[in-house]
Amino acid sequence: MANLKVVIVGAGVVGVCCARTLARSGAEVLVVDQGEAVGVRGGTAAGMGHIVVNDGDEAGLQLCKLGRSIWRDDSPEIAGEDGFIETGTLWMAEDDATFEELARSAARLESAGISVELLKGKSFSDVEPALARDLVGGLRLPEDGVLYAPVVAAAMMQEAKQMGATFRPRVTVSSVETGMVRLADGNCIGADAIVIASGLNALDLLEESGIEVPIVPREGQLAITARGTRVLTHHVVEAGYQQGAHGVVEEAVACAILPRSTGQLCIGSSRRPRQAGAVDRELMEKIIARCDRFLPGIGRLPILRCWSGTRAATADSRPLIGPVPAQRGVWIASGFEGLGITQAPAAAQLIKDSIYGTRSPIDPRAWDPARSMTTS
Ligand SMILES: Cc1cc2nc3c(=O)[nH]c(=O)nc-3n(C[C@H](O)[C@H](O)[C@H](O)COP(=O)(O)OP(=O)(O)OC[C@H]3O[C@@H](n4cnc5c(N)ncnc54)[C@H](O)[C@@H]3O)c2cc1C
Repeated sequence: MANLKVVIVGAGVVGVCCARTLARSGAEVLVVDQGEAVGVRGGTAAGMGHIVVNDGDEAGLQLCKLGRSIWRDDSPEIAGEDGFIETGTLWMAEDDATFEELARSAARLESAGISVELLKGKSFSDVEPALARDLVGGLRLPEDGVLYAPVVAAAMMQEAKQMGATFRPRVTVSSVETGMVRLADGNCIGADAIVIASGLNALDLLEESGIEVPIVPREGQLAITARGTRVLTHHVVEAGYQQGAHGVVEEAVACAILPRSTGQLCIGSSRRPRQAGAVDRELMEKIIARCDRFLPGIGRLPILRCWSGTRAATADSRPLIGPVPAQRGVWIASGFEGLGITQAPAAAQLIKDSIYGTRSPIDPRAWDPARSMTTS
């Protein structure tokens, strides 16, 4: 199977991780994207870039853990300072009840082999002195980090190209079926294996085959401060942030602040069940006010840019990673909500193992697309 011809639809972080992993296995890889370059559209262009082991469900934790370990050990060197940087995550608790939740989370993470540190009072404020003095404490995950996904995605594709992979920009795919990728211009590309990594648009590509993929949009808004404003070393997040990531709440706002290697702070975040549109100033003010509660003074820092992006979410909050039911030779990797950058290299590993029939380092069944894709 060394010369297996694989077409990957989508040059976001998930698509290019698949490209590098499959090219390393000897596949002949072609990545196509409707955009003009790698990683400049979709969630990859809009995301924060927090690489985090999330204490969600057990399966999700394993996917994050594998993703983080690949980013830590194998982030492309040519991405330089935009590649993985170990900042650690600091989950912050405003009150005793939230701190108790963090303590329970610490126990679960520890039993899964994740390094954690529970901090209270002075030991907490010593770690990040700029944070509000009345916070009760926090949970530190020292091995988490950050990266800048658009640059890292381009670097991943560069590495894949060095192993013979090809990237074709400005190619819009209209549908996918066994052995065939149909393009909007009427042309077709044949392939032994096809990987749909087109984020939210995965829906449209399988429509003609009568397959429904339950992926829905969840908008988020972010802002970035000017250089020289980095007053934090950790990525800081308010405990309970992930609660807004599940279920369909009309609007959720929580403090998440990411320190960039450029000396800037990326400020977020929000969740609403809709596609990204223009920045909503009122919502952005709520986000900054929430962040100001945890990092007093952030609201007065100069903001260079605000933007909105769309997360692709599934009904059960688990991504779809694996073979598409009733479409031999077609795989999907989509629906990562707010963890796609973290989980992308792990998903690529699972897709590669599924295509080649090799054993995965983690049990892939939790993400089997067959659990929720229906054929009409
Ligand atoms: C506000 C926000 C904050 C986030 N923060 C984080 C974070 O801190 N950490 C984290 O891990 N994750 C985060 N995420 C999630 C993460 O950004 C996404 O899960 C991830 O980028 C998804 O990558 P992807 O490759 O699956 O999809 P995308 O990045 O959306 O890429 C899909 C690609 O497919 C192409 N495409 C689509 N349709 C077609 C077609 N028909 N033909 C050809 N090409 C097509 C698009 O042009 C695009 O380039 C965040 C997301 C948002 C919106």
